[in-house]
Amino acid sequence: MKKQYAFLISLLCLATFAQAQNTILHCGTLIDGIGNEARREMTIVVSKNRITGVEKGYRTPGAGDRVIDLKSKTVMPGLIDCHVHLEQESRRGAAIDRFQLNPADVAYMAAGYAKTTLMAGFTTVRDLGGSGVNIALRNAINRGMAVGPRIFTCGKSIATTGGHADPTNGFRHDIAGDPGPYEGVVNSVEDARKAVRQRYKEGADMIKITATGGVLSLAVNGLNPQFSEEEIRAIVETAKDYGFPVAAHAHGAEGMKRAIRAGVTSIEHGTYMDDEAIELFKKMGTYYVPTIIAGKSVADSARIFGYYQPVVVPKALAVGPVIQGTFGKAYKAGVKIAFGTDAGVFTHGQNAKEFQYMTEVGMPPMAAIQSATRVAAELVGMKDQLGTVETGKLADLVATGENPLQNIKTLMQVRFVMKDGVVYKNE
Ligand SMILES: [Zn+2]
Repeated sequence: MKKQYAFLISLLCLATFAQAQNTILHCGTLIDGIGNEARREMTIVVSKNRITGVEKGYRTPGAGDRVIDLKSKTVMPGLIDCHVHLEQESRRGAAIDRFQLNPADVAYMAAGYAKTTLMAGFTTVRDLGGSGVNIALRNAINRGMAVGPRIFTCGKSIATTGGHADPTNGFRHDIAGDPGPYEGVVNSVEDARKAVRQRYKEGADMIKITATGGVLSLAVNGLNPQFSEEEIRAIVETAKDYGFPVAAHAHGAEGMKRAIRAGVTSIEHGTYMDDEAIELFKKMGTYYVPTIIAGKSVADSARIFGYYQPVVVPKALAVGPVIQGTFGKAYKAGVKIAFGTDAGVFTHGQNAKEFQYMTEVGMPPMAAIQSATRVAAELVGMKDQLGTVETGKLADLVATGENPLQNIKTLMQVRFVMKDGVVYKNE
């Protein structure tokens, strides 16, 4: 009887042991997102969806452990893109889409773009504006019904009447109507509060405002301020009640400064940032999300006849090429920079080209990678969970064939992707 009992106990122990098996990743080179040097010959231990160990040398696997051989690769934290639009992808004549696509069409396309984004090594993104399908997409991914990155979404961007994210810009008068806070259009402090609460009700994770004109909207001015400072302040204050960060799209300096002074968390694009704006960024601790690749790609597309509506072309040609220089200046001045691309304005999956553009104007490769890992994790409010390879963090890891500190372009071909402990790609 006693013997049988002991046998049962040992069976139970075996079963527990088998369940507790680890995934052992042997990493030839490791960029952990913390230190400024890459480490050679390291082991990362993953249990379920967490990193449970980071060790020097290649650990010998225990019984039941799964080994992933990345000895010829460079491993780093999953990349984070702080500015994407998963509901759309640029192409010639896309302006007509909003009259032809149903939400279900948008949803299937968005699911495809989300998968492309994850396979390109971006395990987390902020979706900074769509119709609200981006909220359903986030939920589907979280439930395991679609494949894609972790999504932090603003749902629908908030604008003012005729502003960059007014959904009826350029419409014939009789169908344009007069959208309000429900549609994300505000014209007073009261409206501003209501629009934030409406986004909360719809399930957004954060708020996005269009603090100045923009390039791709059907409106003449791409730079002008479009909110009063009081309106932005009301948005920031209300957002705080819900724990929402506020991202502000801004090209022109005046709208940018109003947004920074009003306390937004990040400025997107920041094209015509002047010295006063740079000082404000540093004083307020505002993050800058540059999107250099979007600027370059809209300028390229604007040279193709018929690609954009005529009102967009001069804006794209003027604004697009400026961002890279602004980024270089902001980096040298010590502004906090979080990686972001505006993917959707160009083809999804090309996000990592941004790294090349960042390093071209003076940011060291290690700092560029950290802007897309540790710094971006801070911006999305997940610094305790994401952004570095450390025990206790979520197991979001990617690997490249070459060392990106020597060849930054290798980030365009990510070979291995793990998100939340699940391997999605291993070439
Ligand atoms: Zn955008």
